[in-house]
Amino acid sequence: MMKLKIAIQKSGRLHDDSIKLLKECGIDINNGVNKLKTEASNFPLEVFFLRDDDIPQYIEDGVADIGIVGENVVLEKKKQVNIVEKLGFGKCRLSMAVPKTMEYSTVKDLENTRIATSYPVIVNEFLQRNGIKAEIHEISGSVEIAPGIGLADAICDLVSSGSTLFMNGLKEVETVLKSEAVLAACHNLQPEQQILLDKLLFRIQAVKKAKNNKYILLNAPNEKLNDIIGLLPGMKSPTVLPLAEQGWSSVHSVLNENDFWDIIESLKAAGAQGILVVPIEKMVI
Ligand code: ATP
Ligand code: MG
Repeated sequence: MMKLKIAIQKSGRLHDDSIKLLKECGIDINNGVNKLKTEASNFPLEVFFLRDDDIPQYIEDGVADIGIVGENVVLEKKKQVNIVEKLGFGKCRLSMAVPKTMEYSTVKDLENTRIATSYPVIVNEFLQRNGIKAEIHEISGSVEIAPGIGLADAICDLVSSGSTLFMNGLKEVETVLKSEAVLAACHNLQPEQQILLDKLLFRIQAVKKAKNNKYILLNAPNEKLNDIIGLLPGMKSPTVLPLAEQGWSSVHSVLNENDFWDIIESLKAAGAQGILVVPIEKMVI
């Protein structure tokens, strides 16, 4: 039987979340330490563990059909791959940073500087877009120490909290790119592989939707029922069931994480009691 070949990061920031996502999609893979390759027991999926830098090339060449990798790496490597889905983890930004003591007001202050980065392609595009001439020094790691040792005036590196920059006496001055892990796919998949990819994608989307939503149960006095139902979006409309206690109902619905706290407050104010909020595992609409 034809299998879909997926490349994921061997170790590093995206490894655990990539495995977790496959698990949440109901795909069991035995992830032995130091293995380069494994197979799922319950889905026609072969898994390759690779350095993240190599993943776009493997996908372009069709050695892997799909892969999970940071969008920053896809854009830097300039390989011909399709980004089919953003995955919601591995969130970070690629930012310019300069020494705290440097006066910086606009991007023009980068003119004629030396910028150390592991992302020369993306940085070059950013400089061109802004009409800035600067010298790019490509280095593969520990970019944040470059200004301190006199190698560069500024850096462009991945940031999530900013604490590494801070510890190295740097301040973040421009966001060049926002990134997260994505599912990337080969341009020319066989029809059978496309079917398997669609199947996997359907599951990934169900998992993502579930993460963004909560199941909510509450008790409402019947005379307040209309007000309370009016506050709930729900998938179609909320489920309303009578409680054993006369004059009361139980209301069930689904809430988006983003609206969550606002709606909970209005529900309480409208007379809802015993509000329970439960995580959803999968959601298909
Ligand atoms: P590899 O050994 O596979 O080459 P790496 O050291 O290049 O790994 P990691 O540091 O594990 O890469 O980061 C992998 C990806 O995680 C990055 O390309 C980026 O998309 C994402 N990421 C999320 N937050 C951060 C962060 N704070 N710093 C660096 N990368 C981050
Ligand atoms: Mg890497």
